[in-house]
Amino acid sequence: MAEVITTDVVIIGSGLAGLRAAIEAARRSEGKLEVSVVTKVHAMRSHSVAYAGGTAGMLYPDEGDSFDLHAYDTIKGAAWLADQDAVELFVRLAPQEIYQLDHWGMPWARRPDGRINQRRFGGHSFPRACFAADKTGLYAMQTLYDTSLKYDNIKFYHEFFVTSLLIEDGEFRGITAIELRTGDFYLFKAKAGVLATGGAGRLYSFTTYSHSSTADGMAMAYRAGLPLKDQEFFQFHPTGLVPSGILISEAVRGEGGYLLNNKGERFMKRYAPERMELAPRDVVSKAEMTEILEGRGFEGPGGLDYVLLDMRHLGEDKINERLPHIRETAIRFAGVDPVEEPMPVRPVAHYSMGGVHANIYGATPARGLWAAGEVACISLHGANRLGTNSSIDCLVYGMLTGRQAAEYAMKNHIRDVSPEKVANEEKRIFDRILKGATGENPYQIRREMQDTMSKHVYVFRDEKGLKEAIKKLKELRERFGEGHVADKSREYNTNLVHVLELDAMLEVAYVVARAALNRTETRGAHTRLDYPKRDDKNWLKHTLIARGPDGEPQFSYLPVVITKWPPTERKY
Ligand SMILES: Cc1cc2nc3c(=O)[nH]c(=O)nc-3n(C[C@H](O)[C@H](O)[C@H](O)COP(=O)(O)OP(=O)(O)OC[C@H]3O[C@@H](n4cnc5c(N)ncnc54)[C@H](O)[C@@H]3O)c2cc1C
Repeated sequence: MAEVITTDVVIIGSGLAGLRAAIEAARRSEGKLEVSVVTKVHAMRSHSVAYAGGTAGMLYPDEGDSFDLHAYDTIKGAAWLADQDAVELFVRLAPQEIYQLDHWGMPWARRPDGRINQRRFGGHSFPRACFAADKTGLYAMQTLYDTSLKYDNIKFYHEFFVTSLLIEDGEFRGITAIELRTGDFYLFKAKAGVLATGGAGRLYSFTTYSHSSTADGMAMAYRAGLPLKDQEFFQFHPTGLVPSGILISEAVRGEGGYLLNNKGERFMKRYAPERMELAPRDVVSKAEMTEILEGRGFEGPGGLDYVLLDMRHLGEDKINERLPHIRETAIRFAGVDPVEEPMPVRPVAHYSMGGVHANIYGATPARGLWAAGEVACISLHGANRLGTNSSIDCLVYGMLTGRQAAEYAMKNHIRDVSPEKVANEEKRIFDRILKGATGENPYQIRREMQDTMSKHVYVFRDEKGLKEAIKKLKELRERFGEGHVADKSREYNTNLVHVLELDAMLEVAYVVARAALNRTETRGAHTRLDYPKRDDKNWLKHTLIARGPDGEPQFSYLPVVITKWPPTERKY
């Protein structure tokens, strides 16, 4: 029987979005509500600590930047698939979040006059990335975590793995979770919730993401009847370090680093003559893959062919001051000191533009449940996110959703949860998965899933490859069975956790592949070699995907909101 915890607001996830939401909910309720943060890893091990390069915000209108410029860059970067009303709201709220973090103690880099410094990032027409060396995420998370500890009404449940969202009659009622330390099963009943479980980077083998970015929240929402949106759009960052996939931040190119092919050419002049290396990520990744496929790359280990990222000309002092972590990473993980040699890089799975469908304020279709951060698709980033727009999305939408969840909880009561639903979830996990022994070795299945996604649902896609991926993913689902757990113990059963994560990833990978096959055009990060043109007539629309009764995705569409900027050709 599940142990029951009753709380006011439950925040699922403790990354940038979850912590910001928790602080805002606690603040807004002035101590009257209990805010529970439930997170499968300790808060300070959330993926967000790894974000590096910066956080966007329009700070200096006196120097020529403006809200409209930030909005336009974001919308053009998104290949016109972003909802422009949402983007306009987002860019206006961004600066206040930068200053809010500053007031809470964030050590933003400063200009000589003491004002917050900003660096250039791809697709932004103005330097608007606020940063703290190349460890911005670590400092931002520390700032938020320290701040959250000052609120007595925020309660942390570290290392609780959430297994399902409980939605009845279109209304959020709570969640189920396993306490990893004991293996005990819990029902959290709550008046309101914020889903902030991050992205799905681990669908791929060559990825920048933490091992915990396993699409759990997307799968939970999808299974609970909420639609996913624009799942075909997965970002491949141009500079994943070969062979590990660890990110070499765009900050390197922002500080003046450039890309070279095997002829020593700065090849970006052929693809984005104006912006060069600072074109948006979809443009640079496609350029790199074209160079590699046309024989102008370098042969890498295990098929990981690459191009070079050179920052030697920046000089050792600047590298040590602005990019110390990048230097250390390249030395440790590629055996290359970037002060002396260029780094081997290639496109790497980096960001889910798609996610749980949410409106301009982060509300999901379930009353009482909001979504924030990378798990959500608002949609701000459309077909391609600009660098540094994600962390600020987490902060802005963490703030907005935390506030609304608190306001909702102050007006509503705890509702009953169907005991049958909770009992079924407990049986699924402990009787069918933990005690049962159906299916093959999950680690083998995970490897094959990641290889399939990396081979067929990568930068360049076509019908044949996508159909192969779909067939393979179906086969893997069958071979997975209910999930094979070899370790039968309850305490700290990481084997069980990996199986539950793989269950989620198989669900979401299948949706991503199906959505990629469905969209017969090329837009932003979704490049179909068999449909090489953007097709606004048929495809200027969002894909909504609901889980049908047979478990298969059901597609429907939503129009893109255009306010001021009609779609035009995208040139850089
Ligand atoms: C290497 C790297 C560098 C980046 N650099 C930048 C940058 O410079 N600027 C920028 O704007 N963006 C950057 N990004 C993107 C940005 O880091 C992410 O989009 C952002 O951190 C996501 O934050 P989040 O709060 O949505 O989720 P996360 O930080 O991923 O947190 C997810 C939370 O959900 C919890 N969770 C997940 N599943 C469960 C479950 N089943 N049960 C309980 N809890 C669960 C986890 O414990 C975690 O606390 C970078 C990304 C990478 C990979």
